[in-house]
Amino acid sequence: MKDVVFSGIQPTGLIHVGNYLGAIRKWVALQDRHPCYYCVVDYHAITAPYDPADLPRRTLEAVAANVAAGLDPDRSVIFVQSQIPEHTELCWIFNAVTPVGELQRMTQYKDKARQRRESVNAGLLNYPILQAADILLYRGTLVPVGEDQAQHLEFAREVARRFNALYGETFPEPQVMLGDFPRVLALNDPAVKMSKSVPGSYIALTDEPETIREAVAKAVTDTGPRTGNEMSPGVKNLFDLLGAFSSPDTVRRFQQAYQDGSLRYVELKRVLADDLVSALEPVRRRYRELLARPDDIRDIVRNGADRARPVARATLAEVREKVGILRV
Ligand code: ADP
Repeated sequence: MKDVVFSGIQPTGLIHVGNYLGAIRKWVALQDRHPCYYCVVDYHAITAPYDPADLPRRTLEAVAANVAAGLDPDRSVIFVQSQIPEHTELCWIFNAVTPVGELQRMTQYKDKARQRRESVNAGLLNYPILQAADILLYRGTLVPVGEDQAQHLEFAREVARRFNALYGETFPEPQVMLGDFPRVLALNDPAVKMSKSVPGSYIALTDEPETIREAVAKAVTDTGPRTGNEMSPGVKNLFDLLGAFSSPDTVRRFQQAYQDGSLRYVELKRVLADDLVSALEPVRRRYRELLARPDDIRDIVRNGADRARPVARATLAEVREKVGILRV
């Protein structure tokens, strides 16, 4: 049986190179080989403080940015989570088979709860259950994500196992698939991952050349005296980005300079910024073209929902039956 690919992204037009190298680049590559479902998860996004007036626009921008980055609405099912109410219905059923203790142990929950002490809502705690529902609704078996999502994937496997044990074999156990760069680090703080919630940490795929150059120029490199030949996390991160966006020759040249101690970070950053600007130029252009035609983006979302809906409905009908929900 062919693997079914499922993955999701929160709605903000700002897709950064961490998202791209950790997840989206794999999503694009998998489209030729598998049935793929890629979902903009707006119901996940409302568990964090946000502006309701802004959410519809951000949702459309997220679709546009993903398409600009290479997702193809003809080959993949690209859709918005809230268009398919079965996600939240399955989430409720999974709520009923999930021990609260397991949710409280999730690293992402603990981190986010610590950051927003006075406003921890139940949605933040139950976030991984909705994520499990997203994947299992389509019987997803392969989930390309960054390293930060590996624990949630293990949790989704546990949900599938528990449901199957209680109600009979229904769901496959989804496998995590890590991208080539599963944890791209924040440019301004290599102790944490690049994230759109940390200003100065990221380069967005749709950033203007000047913004890209500034962010790279400010990237933290060595924080203390160099010990042996071990790269500091900040320098290794820049070399990772170089590996992803520059030619093998360029990478070799800078690696050699690093080895013999002649590397100048200014030079490394200049070349990296130039290569990022030119690699991202087509994405930026496609994104701008798409945003100029919002009706086309809406069509993509509508078509995606039309393709996702029958699969979601069939899974949920089976689940309701197994759980003993009345049918009249
Ligand atoms: P963010 O953490 O920036 O809000 P999302 O939660 O929407 O991004 O994540 C979308 C995808 O991008 C997920 O698969 C996630 O694991 C991946 N991802 C996010 N940040 C990084 C990073 N710094 N390095 C690698 N992958 C990442």
